[in-house]
Amino acid sequence: MSFESLGLSSPVLQAVSEKGYTTPTPIQEKAIPIVLMGRDVLGCAQTGTGKTASFVLPMIDILAQGRAKARMPRSLILEPTRELAAQVAENFDIYGKYNKLNMALLIGGVSFEDQERALERGVDVLIATPGRLLDHFERGKVLLNDVKVLVIDEADRMLDMGFIPDVERIVSLLPPLRQTLFFSATMPPEIKRLADRFLSNPREVTVAPPASAAKNIVQGLAVVAEEDKREALRRLIREQDVKNAIVFCNRKRDVAILQGSLKKHGFNAGALHGDMSQPARMETLDKFKQGEIQILVASDVAARGLDINDMSHVFNFDVPFSPEDYVHRIGRTGRAGKTGHSFTLASPDEGALVEAIEKLIGTTIPRVDVPGMDATAFEASDGRRRGRGRARGAKAGSGERARSPRREPRERKPRSEQPAEPPVELQAAAPVAHESRPKRPHRERRPEREHRESQPPQREPSHREPRADRTNRGHERRTERRHERDDGAPIGLGDHVPAFLARSAR
Ligand code: AMP
Repeated sequence: MSFESLGLSSPVLQAVSEKGYTTPTPIQEKAIPIVLMGRDVLGCAQTGTGKTASFVLPMIDILAQGRAKARMPRSLILEPTRELAAQVAENFDIYGKYNKLNMALLIGGVSFEDQERALERGVDVLIATPGRLLDHFERGKVLLNDVKVLVIDEADRMLDMGFIPDVERIVSLLPPLRQTLFFSATMPPEIKRLADRFLSNPREVTVAPPASAAKNIVQGLAVVAEEDKREALRRLIREQDVKNAIVFCNRKRDVAILQGSLKKHGFNAGALHGDMSQPARMETLDKFKQGEIQILVASDVAARGLDINDMSHVFNFDVPFSPEDYVHRIGRTGRAGKTGHSFTLASPDEGALVEAIEKLIGTTIPRVDVPGMDATAFEASDGRRRGRGRARGAKAGSGERARSPRREPRERKPRSEQPAEPPVELQAAAPVAHESRPKRPHRERRPEREHRESQPPQREPSHREPRADRTNRGHERRTERRHERDDGAPIGLGDHVPAFLARSAR
């Protein structure tokens, strides 16, 4: 099928062809005609499938007629993270280059004033994270009663990040007569219930992205003691032909430590996590995209859905707690038909987490040896090594490996590099299925996981209509808290601030 047969206008087709796309992806093929018909869409698809263009392209045509009034956007796209929002905005720039649509990006970490100026001019497309949008609404800077098209993207991630109450609040402010496009990588019951409430007689569009995305990804997993992980990572990076890579850590704290360690060992590494300022995040991301940074050490929240062309490798410095995160992480590579590689470093006590991932993806991740390092095995629940997780060539009962795997990470002196290292042997990955959600294995340690950054803060007692007499001080205070909600854990009072604190000091 060609793009021409989907019913898109000539200016959009021209932009698509200049971008170099000749064939629509399955989600584009299915969703674009439905969106152009004005129908609601319930899309089960994840990033990497061409999902963004599946709503951006028809929206450009839908919005081509008509003009926006000041502060009254004509369409709204909700994204869970700032980076994803920025990526969607880039898509509008690329595909909308022959249309004169005004766009505004409302994300945390950048000045309110610029965003307000953009809203004042009137916007056809408003792309926002939920917290920042509500801040503008409460300041009376944006009105949502003229929104004709709503996109809720990455709904399952919104749920993980605790944004659903904000999303519900936003939807309650929109006119009931609108077109709604709702996308989620997975459809757990909570998400399905939301979709039922927000959508009206939707057409369901499902593509099997995890399976097709993972076909191009050669996966490998090495079991190494926690204290050997940094060395194992360095060896893998040196041994592999790494053009550019993301290294995922479960904890924000480890992101900075690992980046420092990699730099100390001569690697060109940057860091991306939710505690960084937005300009710093954007700058790092830009450098990574431009190839000025080769290795990006990142947390899940910051790196979710990043669309980096031609990324050769993904390394999981830790096994992710959620099996779905594994699929999302490795999906950063092997995009647009290219072959990618992913390596996971698991410590001996992470066997249960790996099992949960393997259950989800429906295949065993091939075990690999780290060149020049002794292999180890997963512990059984009684603390003994299990045969199944042991990599080939493992030295059974190696005294060194019998140490507690959970010591505080510390940098070890590099072992002498062995010149004749055996190559890492890998098998092609089997398709990743995404149907079941296995129970998350119980873990007692590592309390400061990255998702904490964005866990649901307590709700404010009520969201009020904008009030002219509300002072900027109160707004700024709430804004800071919202800001935390987008990307950081609430500090001190959390999200709930007593009303007397929000009142102006006379
Ligand atoms: P997305 O799922 O929207 O994050 O898109 C994943 C990647 O696929 C992005 O780099 C897009 O630029 C690219 N892409 C989107 N549509 C197409 C297409 N029809 N042909 C080739 N690449 C595409």
